[in-house]
Amino acid sequence: MPQTVVHRLFLLFLLFLLSLACSLAWAGAPSQAQGWDKVPGPAVGTTASIGVPTAGCLAGAGHLAADGPGWQVMRLGRNRAWGHPDLVAYIQTLAARGALEGLPPLLVGDMSQPRGGPMPSGHRSHQTGLDVDLMFEAAPENGFDAAQREAFQPRTTLKAGGEVDPGRFGHQQEQWLRLAAESPGVDRIFVNYRLKKLLCGAPAASRAWLHKIRPWNGHDEHFHVRLACPGASGDCLASGATIPDGDGCGRELDSWFEPPGKPPAKPPTPIRPSLPRACASILAAP
Ligand SMILES: [Zn+2]
Repeated sequence: MPQTVVHRLFLLFLLFLLSLACSLAWAGAPSQAQGWDKVPGPAVGTTASIGVPTAGCLAGAGHLAADGPGWQVMRLGRNRAWGHPDLVAYIQTLAARGALEGLPPLLVGDMSQPRGGPMPSGHRSHQTGLDVDLMFEAAPENGFDAAQREAFQPRTTLKAGGEVDPGRFGHQQEQWLRLAAESPGVDRIFVNYRLKKLLCGAPAASRAWLHKIRPWNGHDEHFHVRLACPGASGDCLASGATIPDGDGCGRELDSWFEPPGKPPAKPPTPIRPSLPRACASILAAP
């Protein structure tokens, strides 16, 4: 056999070995949505939000109490009231500020699982402990009892035809959004684009806080707060594109309405990225 052919065969064999090694390395990575919802408690140790909200995990999570001054957590059985301690503190402070302004208790929906990671249902994001869903609906005067809390189904603020229902979205909901957007640490807040349009009806001089209120599909019964990566979380990656300057009440928002139901500005659904390798040890940690 000529020597060049032997060399080529040897190179091909090396390439084969390399590809095998790569596939084995990836096989060792934590698979999507596998086991993350089964871990009952957080990974202890240094707090870290790792990855992006749609592919990441969380170490050293804090837990939001089921009840506190100005808030009530819904659907406790889901065990999703975990988050980066900054998120826990953010909710506590926001609830206290709402109470000071005379708002009824805040109904808190999903945060993250104890170690973050993909959820088997409900969300693509919420994986790094920096996201929380907060309801537009006010708590009843005496709060919910345990059964009502578990069976809680949030109510939309839109009428059947899609218009905003003024009985369900008014000054109170706007106050919550403003408080949430003006609180330190917020990266962005997602609301239904019809709600954003309504908020844009305010005089331009009082709309600066709308900068962080981002139009999206859904999000008509809750608003979704996402915190920026905390300074100490070195493996935390920023999510999404930079928010354009201004209050977001112009062309970008209008594009959500044309043609009806098919907003061209909506970004394409991204391919689900893989979890960072570091998440394997977070999932496996005692
Ligand atoms: Zn959400």
